[in-house]
Amino acid sequence: KISDMKQYLPIRPETVDGTKIEVCLNVGSAEKSELELEEYTDGVGLFRTEFLYMSKKQLPTEEEQFEVYKKIAEVYGERPVVIRTLDIGGDKKLDYLELPQEDNPFLGLRALRLCFEMKPIFKTQLRAILRAGVYGNIWIMFPMVGSIGDIRFAKQIVEEVKQELDQEEVPYDKNIKVGIMVEIPSIALMADVAASEVDFASIGTNDLCQYLMAVDRLNPSVAKYYQSFHPAMFRLIKQIAEAFTSQGKPVSVCGEMGGNPQAVALLAGLGIRKFSMNASSVAPVKKMIHQLNIRKAERMARTVLELSTAVQVESYMNSELPQ
Ligand code: PEP
Ligand code: MG
Repeated sequence: KISDMKQYLPIRPETVDGTKIEVCLNVGSAEKSELELEEYTDGVGLFRTEFLYMSKKQLPTEEEQFEVYKKIAEVYGERPVVIRTLDIGGDKKLDYLELPQEDNPFLGLRALRLCFEMKPIFKTQLRAILRAGVYGNIWIMFPMVGSIGDIRFAKQIVEEVKQELDQEEVPYDKNIKVGIMVEIPSIALMADVAASEVDFASIGTNDLCQYLMAVDRLNPSVAKYYQSFHPAMFRLIKQIAEAFTSQGKPVSVCGEMGGNPQAVALLAGLGIRKFSMNASSVAPVKKMIHQLNIRKAERMARTVLELSTAVQVESYMNSELPQ
């Protein structure tokens, strides 16, 4: 079966009726093993940089980060590489960073919030990313954005870093694209405003589901309540997709749903044209896209938006697109 699947790796992801879809890779490093499918993908849709920090005994230096980001930018050339700034906290810890004990780490000081508190760490990473941008097509993405205020503050820090690089006459990508993860419901509901403030967005369905359903994504005793095929998810994603596409801003999906062929069909029906996924999903997703008719995808999406439960959505999808 796996070898059958391999034949789909080299195909251009396009639906039966000619709608082009981008298939990108989620990575956690610039190691060769992670980039094996580089030639079959349209870019990196999510570089989870926290692994760079977790694999060390101390904070990675600007230079260390610069080398990694430069390497991946060069490998992908003109194709975009979306580098997500540090998303630590929640389930991801750094031994060498003293952080307060929290009763609810997933609702606590994590990701962008932590970067705002520890500005020097944030700025070091932004310097490395901006500098590496000279060697390819890097886009900066902020995780766990909750408000328009978060966006403005993060952009202001990018501006500060740019000014410092200007003063030092250090080369960097002056036109780097800046975008956000949409993974907190409050910013999802403000997507129309958010879209006017950024260059692009990527929907993080893992956290979006966790925060929308109020279910810890790692807690097995409530796993059955973690329903990424709940109609509420698709209603919300529809709103996000429309807000960004109507303003001509790219919007992708980079959570686990972006690597699930049935979900990809539905999300394409809602207007999503870019998906980012783990390497193991590239062939199955390309196969789905290759066999999909966009009119059918739109019809399925319309149906799902009117269903009442996740169970109904799943059985409907199993009847329309048996796996
Ligand atoms: C997400 O939340 O969907 C996502 C892609 O980010 P992570 O899984 O790293 O939280
Ligand atoms: Mg997330």
